[in-house]
Amino acid sequence: MQARGGCKICCVVRPILACTLILWLIPLPALAQDDEEWPPLDYVRNDYQAVQVVAHVQGFGATLVSQIPGYDTWRVSCVVLEPFKGPFAGGDTLMYFHGVEAPSRPGMFSEERVVFLLAENNAEWGFYYAALENSTLPASETLLGKLRSVVQPPIIDMHLHAFGWDAYGTPPPPHEVTGNRPTAETDEEAVEAVLAEMARYNIVKAVASGPAEHVARWRAAAPDRILGGAYAGPRDALPDVAALRDAFASGALSVLGELGLQYRGLSPGDPQLEPYFALAEAMDVPVALHTGLGDAGAPYGCCPNFRVTLGNPVLLEDVLVRHPALRVYLMHAGYPYLQETKALLTVYPQVYVDLAVLNWALPRAEFHAYLKALIDAGFGKRILFGSDQMVWPESIGLAVEGIESATFLTDEHKRDIFYHNAVRFLRLDEAALNE
Ligand SMILES: [Zn+2]
Repeated sequence: MQARGGCKICCVVRPILACTLILWLIPLPALAQDDEEWPPLDYVRNDYQAVQVVAHVQGFGATLVSQIPGYDTWRVSCVVLEPFKGPFAGGDTLMYFHGVEAPSRPGMFSEERVVFLLAENNAEWGFYYAALENSTLPASETLLGKLRSVVQPPIIDMHLHAFGWDAYGTPPPPHEVTGNRPTAETDEEAVEAVLAEMARYNIVKAVASGPAEHVARWRAAAPDRILGGAYAGPRDALPDVAALRDAFASGALSVLGELGLQYRGLSPGDPQLEPYFALAEAMDVPVALHTGLGDAGAPYGCCPNFRVTLGNPVLLEDVLVRHPALRVYLMHAGYPYLQETKALLTVYPQVYVDLAVLNWALPRAEFHAYLKALIDAGFGKRILFGSDQMVWPESIGLAVEGIESATFLTDEHKRDIFYHNAVRFLRLDEAALNE
């Protein structure tokens, strides 16, 4: 797609264009342009909002269309590599006008740049795009990352799993919703596939639990994005308390969970868990407890000791009383124990819930009814996003869509669920996350 009426401008509007461009030509401090972190996120967001087109482009032609003393105006042709705002798609061509300080040369437009373009319209010479000068910068990964974060605000996934690629069989079965088989055929490919989905949805942090060796591998692949979780599941017992203490102290693990106690036939109130909760409370480590639902046929297959009743979140109550400083989130939001979940949330303000698996595996109306009940009960600040990605990375996108499609949620509810509630619960440094 190209700007309409472009060629008229070069003959007719030279003085007007040059005059307008002068206003945009406030030079940046040289130092700031050398800084990897430039421009700050707020600057990017303001410019993004001020213009009609933002895109990562590759220039392929530039023609000098006007010169006044000290300023040159170029007409630049480029191909869109990654669109951020406006009517252009990747691969489209785009033309814009760009005023620069003289002397200038056409080669300066051939590098990859991020352009912020104003749509200008004039009855006499039509429609054209003009660069917002201070904002057009080389396409660094830092700048592109900030733009993605402006377009797709950050998300924290409180519930995914660091498993081997074949944790569910060789090859893994198809996804129960989409019917697609995972493409990964090695543990490395499995991590890469999940990290790519996290990047696509701007998931800036994820709590990843699984067998210790897999969690270590995932943390090594993305130390800034992966928080390790101590996992207990159908085939995995918790490590001993001393090993866990070391792992929490070193930062190798940051969360006690997912505790799939229900799959192991254990109530959270079982005395053998007491040292773990005491440790988590003493070290101020959040606890992630599987609650509510289970796989169809679990007691006949993976987990002979699994019982529906062991998923009832009220079984946690005595633990909360014994450990008042424990920070806990109920994974799967206690579903379908709505009344018990609301009761716990009402009485114990330190308790949060995550929406993992409900947001893609339940019938959508059922999930939305459950979520709406929690919102209507006033718990919008205590609900966390989770995907329960296991070996099917597309679960992440399905989980995001489950929240995005809830028409009863306000934008504030969504931002709270996707991000702000987790920042508060995990006590993250939001400024550091944003940069
Ligand atoms: Zn679970």
